[in-house]
Amino acid sequence: MKYGFGVDIGGTTIKIGLFSKDGELIEKWEIPTNKTDNGKHILTEIADFIDRTIESKGIDKNDVFGVGLGVPGPVNKNGEVNGCVNLGWNTFNVEKEFNEISGFNVKVGNDANVAALGEMWQGAGKGYQDVLMVTLGTGVGGGCVLDGKIISGMHGAGGEIGHMPVRDDEPTACNCGNHGCLEQYVSATGIVTQAKKVLDHDNRPSSLRDYDCLEAKHIYDEAKNGDEVANEIVDLTCKILAKSLAQVCCVMDPEIIVIGGGVSKAGDILTSRISTFFKEYAFHACENIPVVLAKLENDAGMYGCVKSLF
Ligand code: ZN
Repeated sequence: MKYGFGVDIGGTTIKIGLFSKDGELIEKWEIPTNKTDNGKHILTEIADFIDRTIESKGIDKNDVFGVGLGVPGPVNKNGEVNGCVNLGWNTFNVEKEFNEISGFNVKVGNDANVAALGEMWQGAGKGYQDVLMVTLGTGVGGGCVLDGKIISGMHGAGGEIGHMPVRDDEPTACNCGNHGCLEQYVSATGIVTQAKKVLDHDNRPSSLRDYDCLEAKHIYDEAKNGDEVANEIVDLTCKILAKSLAQVCCVMDPEIIVIGGGVSKAGDILTSRISTFFKEYAFHACENIPVVLAKLENDAGMYGCVKSLF
């Protein structure tokens, strides 16, 4: 049993990685996500791709220890997915179905949860067993790993940090339907929304006013350039995130906090600001938990899918 596959199923593409048992990514591919007929062809197409791949590489099927799948939705311990809007999936047992289609040993996890596990295995959390990871992208994903295991919970909602309620006065609805979720303030989209509010409500000059289509990246770039308003927005959003992280740390007390996703490309400014506010909010026993940048970028999910098989 030498090889494993990590398959990160996204709304537009499916990332497939061939791994050795000790965690080396040997080769990776991307195939488009076929969302026709409510995504019913997705699992078959993945199984076909893997079959063709091992055949072309001369790998014996018996040498494959399993296939880990990461999906963009809540997954419970039994491998049942409770709806994936981005794939057109309703509730069904993905683990069981993919095992029947492919014949492989299968493990299914939520995409943000497996990314956390991947970072723990071969990324920024390497050497640690208790890792809290937050992915700041279009939305906010989260993953809590304790004793080397993902906390997925009874309903598959473990680690859904992005939907922790943080404010009572939010008029706009979150993608989940609630109002005032963390994601609405600290995702790439959320940061821009907060920036526009600040810019609309004061007259200070700011280079942010020069952008026709403002993005989170611009806000961080201008903050690094010393723009006062941009720095204020960075502080505002990092503070909200840091408070939520401090709350999560009161529950799980991780060894390290890993920040990933598109926004984390901002680099050290992001982790240093979060750290500063985190120290203010954290329970004293947790205040020195390091806040670091993720390392595996878009491959984290594939790594974690393979790790989840052990
Ligand atoms: Zn929400």
